Amino acid sequence: MISLYDLLRASNGQLYGDPAAQLFTDFCLDPQQAREGLLYVALRTSQVDTHHYIEEAIQNGVSGVICVGPPGCDTTGVSVLMVRDTVEALMSWAQFALGKMKVRRIVVSGSSAKSLTAAAITRVLATRYRVHQGNLDDDGRLSLALSMAHLSSEYDYVVMKLEITQPDDMRQMVETLQPDIGIITNIDCVHRSSFASCQQYREDYYALVDYLRSPDALLILNNDDEATREMLTRAKGRVRTIGIDVFGADMMMYNLKPGLDRTGFDLRYEERYLGRWSPVVGKQHLYSLLAALTIGVQVGIPLEDALKALTELPYLPGRMNPLNGRSGAMLIDDTYKAGVASTMMALDWLNYVRMDGQRIIFVMGDIDHLGKNSQYAHRSIGLRAAEVADVIVTQGAQAALVGRAAIDQGKDINAVRTTYSVQDAVAVLDDLKLNENDIVLIKGGESVRMEEVVRALLADPADARLLVRQQKTAKSVSLPSRPLHPAWLEIDREAFAGNVRVIRQLLPPEVTLMAVVKANAYGHGAIMAARIALLNGAGYLAVANIAEALTLRDAGIEAPILVLSYTPASAVRQAVQQNITVTVFDLELARMYDRAARDVGGQLKYHVKLDTGMGRLGVLPADTVAMFRHLHALKHVALEGIMTHFSAADTDPAHTQTQLETFKNLVRMLRAGGFQFKYVHAANSAAVLRSPDYFFNMVRPGLVLYGLTPETMTLPAGLRPLLTWKTTVLQVKLLPAGHPVGYGNTYITRGPERIAILPVGYADGLRRAPATWREVLINGQRVPLVGRVSMEKCAVNVTDIDVSAGDEVVLLGKQGSDEITPEEVAGWLGTSNYEVVTTIMPYLAR
Ligand SMILES: *Cc1c(COP(=O)(O)O)cnc(C)c1O
Repeated sequence: MISLYDLLRASNGQLYGDPAAQLFTDFCLDPQQAREGLLYVALRTSQVDTHHYIEEAIQNGVSGVICVGPPGCDTTGVSVLMVRDTVEALMSWAQFALGKMKVRRIVVSGSSAKSLTAAAITRVLATRYRVHQGNLDDDGRLSLALSMAHLSSEYDYVVMKLEITQPDDMRQMVETLQPDIGIITNIDCVHRSSFASCQQYREDYYALVDYLRSPDALLILNNDDEATREMLTRAKGRVRTIGIDVFGADMMMYNLKPGLDRTGFDLRYEERYLGRWSPVVGKQHLYSLLAALTIGVQVGIPLEDALKALTELPYLPGRMNPLNGRSGAMLIDDTYKAGVASTMMALDWLNYVRMDGQRIIFVMGDIDHLGKNSQYAHRSIGLRAAEVADVIVTQGAQAALVGRAAIDQGKDINAVRTTYSVQDAVAVLDDLKLNENDIVLIKGGESVRMEEVVRALLADPADARLLVRQQKTAKSVSLPSRPLHPAWLEIDREAFAGNVRVIRQLLPPEVTLMAVVKANAYGHGAIMAARIALLNGAGYLAVANIAEALTLRDAGIEAPILVLSYTPASAVRQAVQQNITVTVFDLELARMYDRAARDVGGQLKYHVKLDTGMGRLGVLPADTVAMFRHLHALKHVALEGIMTHFSAADTDPAHTQTQLETFKNLVRMLRAGGFQFKYVHAANSAAVLRSPDYFFNMVRPGLVLYGLTPETMTLPAGLRPLLTWKTTVLQVKLLPAGHPVGYGNTYITRGPERIAILPVGYADGLRRAPATWREVLINGQRVPLVGRVSMEKCAVNVTDIDVSAGDEVVLLGKQGSDEITPEEVAGWLGTSNYEVVTTIMPYLAR
């Protein structure tokens, strides 16, 4: 039970309006699960703001609300408590609640396996005592505080997990929770980016070591982990160590018999030796058992009883769980929350249990929160994965480095598959034709939701209930973490994959889809776009220049690539060696390529471009036949295709039709003259949408793949834009009437006006002149830009809406029910949607 007055006293909060209910049965974070008796918790942190759900929670019947600002809706009949910071208030309340009970407190900390450790301890202690299992599903302070709702004086022990996410967390938490027993499972030196160094991260754990100095306190340390072993020298209270295979630990396992769904072991404790097994796999999880056994013997539980208790453990989703996959494959679901050390241990385990003839497939998604350590960490995993796994499938931009490192290590490029979405990862796994000889290990950080990959691979869909994150929690309403640059782009990769598939379905199977990814994939990110396009039905890529083609090759993309524009002869060596196709638009160029290719000792593939009415690059119809006559003689270049480009497929169907006829006639004549073309192509996005007449056997759309609309046309169903350009409000100020805003005093406030400053300017691609961006979205509403756009700042007038510093701003894309499209911005700027998206600076995080 939660008492309103306990909360009020502990949190130093204030009642808002008249109190109603004084006791609540539990907390509630999800407004949809709100009902009578519950206290709705509204959060406002750097990651989430759930205050706008208060009204819904009240409508659904909650009896109370705790929040930081006025609730902003009718609260009659509901007790409302306002506090400075909800999480802090609840932590103070947890401290208060714990203080009222005589329950012994056990805290589990460390970089990995905290949940299993807490579960194992609970299991062992429950053979004799009443144990309250605190936060099981989540490690944060909030869930810790919330889990005290059901604590009562009936319990002998409470087991809590502590996660430290920033410096000084541990000190604050031990002061609040005042533990009697503490465990540090291990310390992963590839730590969160919120710590300056491994040293600082380690140092934080010392707060627990220092706190547990009284003679009846107990500290359990992992003897096999260098960082925790070092703590022994500073520990003043009672300490017990745990370890595997290395003598010296108080409680030691050896003679491990790892299996696919259980682990056998021998145990040594005070000159006693016992054998047993437990249904856990992975070395990191065995330390959990050792910690539980140690606590058990310390509180008088016979070792045999404790060992027996550990043959049954509750099922924890997403932690090295064997599940039945399609076609008899075995899935190891480790999708809860990957860290570097736990990933390495999981790979070690795989290496140990694999049998001859088995195929090991390692599926890895991005690990979260690693900051500047991220690249190094993902690469290290790649090096180990190259040794253990037969096939590596990655999902996400950071995990792509796992694959890259494996290739650098000598792994066959075909054994490494890089994807950027759940859908694509599943498609790749389909392609691998899973069978009963496969073991598939699936790992990743919380944000990549790799449990969705597991779900797609399950033999029995009913097993989905065994997956992690199946319930809504605070996480499901949290905002994504923000990159360091103050303005950034969010790219909806699933939408891109979907768009490519929609276009692919418009085409007969014999027509090759050449995905145009020039100009950094129209500003969306070329490598990501190229990979997704290829996974979803593209057979060829097109870029504007050889540098772009080489960037794709560097990323390990092996599909054919056509350079649409000019390629200098000096680049022919690279083009030949890296299988890049070039465009020829006059005879001299063809001859130059021929000589260069001869020098390199290879053959250069090329397509000839005809100018059928665009007046840009290409051979004019009158010169075509004459030029082709000379091409026969060139032996070091290989003619692969012929193409033309439409100047107004979007706006001038008649002209396009004439271009089409000209092109068809020329192709017919050339064929009659003995030329063969593997590819004949003309259609850009607008032509693809217009008619199959323009398809030939290859099409080259760009724009529509990104969900953008050719002028005067409408998009087919299923195509959607994927780019959102965001920033946040830096400052909000009230200016008096007559006050200038921005350089040149071009805007003067007309009355008292509230002005918000945004950290984005023309250096980021937010145009200043001659016409500027007109509006942005904040809290779902449109607000006008005022004054001149600066290099990296601009101002908007927010007089009419409720805005505070830190609020998210959308420059391009959807927010709430409104949307600013590239087409609309193109109207403001007097340009096309193409220019709007391609002039957003490439250095902004995507
Ligand atoms: C850019 C380009 C395309 C793609 O045009 P969209 O209108 O974006 O579909 C096709 N062909 C050539 C030669 C191009 O330069």
